[in-house]
Amino acid sequence: MQRTQDSIDALFENEGAKDPLAVLKRIYGYSAFRGKQAAVVSRVVSGGDAVVLFPTGAGKSLCFQIPALCREGVGVVISPLIALMRDQVEALKQLGVRAAALNSSLSREEFIEVRRAIDRGALDLLYVTPERVVTPGFRELIGNARIALFAIDEAHCVSQWGHDFRPEYRELGQLAEQYPGVPRIALTATADPHTREDIIDKLALQSAEVFTTSFDRPNISYEIVERDQPRQQLLRFLSRHKGSSGIVYCLSRAKVEDTAEWLNGQGVRALAYHAGMDRSIRDANQDAFLKEEELCLVATVAFGMGIDKPNVRYVAHLDLPGSVEAYYQETGRAGRDGLPSDVWMAYGMADVIQRRRMIDEGTSGDDIKRVERAKLNALLAICETPGCRRQAILVHFGEAHQGRCGNCDTCLKPVETWDGTEAAIKALAAVYRTGERFGTGHLIDVLLGNVNEKTTRFGHIDMPVFGAGKDIPSKTWQSVYRQLLAAGLISVDHDAFGALKLEPESRAVFRREREVRFRTDRPTTGKAAKSASPSSTNAKSQLQGAEMELFEALRAARTAIAKELSVPPYVVFPDTTLVAFATERPTSRDALLGISGVGQSKLERYGDAFLKVIRARQR
Ligand code: ADP
Ligand code: ZN
Repeated sequence: MQRTQDSIDALFENEGAKDPLAVLKRIYGYSAFRGKQAAVVSRVVSGGDAVVLFPTGAGKSLCFQIPALCREGVGVVISPLIALMRDQVEALKQLGVRAAALNSSLSREEFIEVRRAIDRGALDLLYVTPERVVTPGFRELIGNARIALFAIDEAHCVSQWGHDFRPEYRELGQLAEQYPGVPRIALTATADPHTREDIIDKLALQSAEVFTTSFDRPNISYEIVERDQPRQQLLRFLSRHKGSSGIVYCLSRAKVEDTAEWLNGQGVRALAYHAGMDRSIRDANQDAFLKEEELCLVATVAFGMGIDKPNVRYVAHLDLPGSVEAYYQETGRAGRDGLPSDVWMAYGMADVIQRRRMIDEGTSGDDIKRVERAKLNALLAICETPGCRRQAILVHFGEAHQGRCGNCDTCLKPVETWDGTEAAIKALAAVYRTGERFGTGHLIDVLLGNVNEKTTRFGHIDMPVFGAGKDIPSKTWQSVYRQLLAAGLISVDHDAFGALKLEPESRAVFRREREVRFRTDRPTTGKAAKSASPSSTNAKSQLQGAEMELFEALRAARTAIAKELSVPPYVVFPDTTLVAFATERPTSRDALLGISGVGQSKLERYGDAFLKVIRARQR
C-alpha cells in the first residue's frame, strides 16, 4: 500500500518541524544518534513506515519516541505487557515527556484526564495494549485528535514461528486501513527471516523500509559448561556477580522454586517468577527485580519480555533453552546498558534426551517436528562447538563474523579436541551389538568390560566389544555419547526406556568415511574451570579508589531519590551516567549537561542533588 506521503510531508513542513537531534540532546541528554537510529527517525518523522530489527540494547525506543515528539499529535505505542507500561511511562515523565498508559487499572478520573490531554494535543506518547487499540472504544477516545504514529513494540509476537506468539497481534494489521496516513513502525530484537516475513505480512507493512543492524552484542560474554554439579556450578558463577542483579532461567516451575529457595539458603538473595504463581506475588517479585540493585531472579521463560532494566549483569541457564533464537533473546536481556555482562549455561546429555523426547511426543505435525528438531540441533551445535561461540551464534542468524571474539569461553581458553573416530566406532558398535536396547550406563559397562549382573545376564561379556574401551575413562565415554547424540549420529528411543539407537548417518563413521572429532570436556571444578571463565563484571569494576567511593555515594543518592519516587533507580539515571559522574566529576550545572544521559528535565529535577554529592568529595 502506498502512503500519501507527499501531503504528510507538506503538512509537516508548514508546521515547522522539530529537529530530532535537538530533541535527542535536550530531552535525553545524548549527543548523537547511534547506528541506524538517525535513518529510522528521519524515515518515520517524514511519515514513512518502518520495520526495525535491532538487537536488545541498540536503542529501539528512541526510534519511535523521537518521531512521536517531532510530529504533531500523540504517538501510540502498542506494547504487550501492562505491568511494564507503568515503568516506561514513569521513565518518560522523568524526561519531561507527557506520557500515559491506557489500561484497566486507570480510574474513571484518570481516564478522563487522558482523554482531555489527547483532545488538547497535550499528550506526546500513549501506551496501549494490542487488544485495546483495535476497538471502537479506542477510536472514540482518539476522536478528532491527531495520531503522530503507531509504534508496535515486540513485533515478533505476531509470528507463530517465535515463542512469544500472541494472537491479538494479528489484529494490528487493521491499523493500516483504520488510520490511513499514520506512519507505523514495528520493532523487535528477533532476527530470523520467518519472523521478519510474518511482521511485514501480518502487520501490512509491505511499504515499510526495513532497518537491520548487526546482532552482535560485544559486551556480552558467552560461556557454556558441561553440567556436573549444577547447583555448585551456579553458585560459583553467581559468586562472580556479587552486588549486581541477574536472571537464572529454569525449565520447570518446580525447579524455579527449589532453586530460588536453595540460593537463599546459600546467602544469595533470590526471588522466583513463573506463570503458575499468584499474580500479586509474581508482580511484586518483578517489581523488586526492577528496583533492587542486588537480586537474583529465578524464572521460567515466562519472565523477561519487555523488561528493559538496563543493568541486568548476568543471565544463567540451568536447562537448555528452546532454540538458538530463544537463547539469544533470553541472554540478550543482559547488558542493555552496554556495560560488560556475563551469560552462562550448564548443559548435559539429559537436556538433549529430554528435549528430543518433548518434540517426539508432542502433538504437532511431522513438518513442525522436523523444524523443531532442526532448531534443537542448531542449538546443540553451538553448545558443542570447539570454535568461537559468538561466531557460531551470529552465523546462525546469517551474519558473518571472523571468530576469535576474545569474549567467550572457547576463545578465552581454546577447547582441545581429539580424533574420536576410533572411539566413536567402538561406542556405536556397543549400541549395535547389544541390539539398540540399552542406555548409556549399560553401554559404558560393556565398553569398560565391567562384569556385573546385567552384562552377564544378557551375555554381553562374551562379545568382542566387551572391554574394548578400557583405555578410556567412564566420564569420557559419557562425553562421547553426549556428543554423538548432539551430532545426530545416535538417537534415544523413549518407548524403550531411553535405549540408544543408531541413526543412518552413523554408517559413514563405521565405514571410516567420516572423521569424528570430540571436544575435550573441561574439568568442572577447581582452578582450570575458573581461569577459563570470563572475569567478573560490574559497572563499577571499571572504577578504582576515590572514583569508586564517589560512585557508591552517587548510587546511594540515586537509591534515596528512587525510593522517594517509587521508581527503579535506573529511571533516575543509568549506571553509565553515574560512572561518568564519578570519573569526570562535573561541578557545575553546565558541566552536568555535558554528561551523556543528562537532559534538561533531569538536570532540573536531580542536578543539584548529585552536584552536592560530587562537590562534597572535592579534593
Ligand atoms: P532496545 O529497546 O533496543 O533494547 P533501549 O531503547 O532500551 O534499547 O536502549 C538501550 C539503552 O541505550 C537505553 O539506556 C537508552 O537510553 C540508551 N540509548 C539509546 N540510544 C542512545 C544514544 N543515541 N546515545 C546514548 N544512549 C542511547
Ligand atoms: Zn569467541
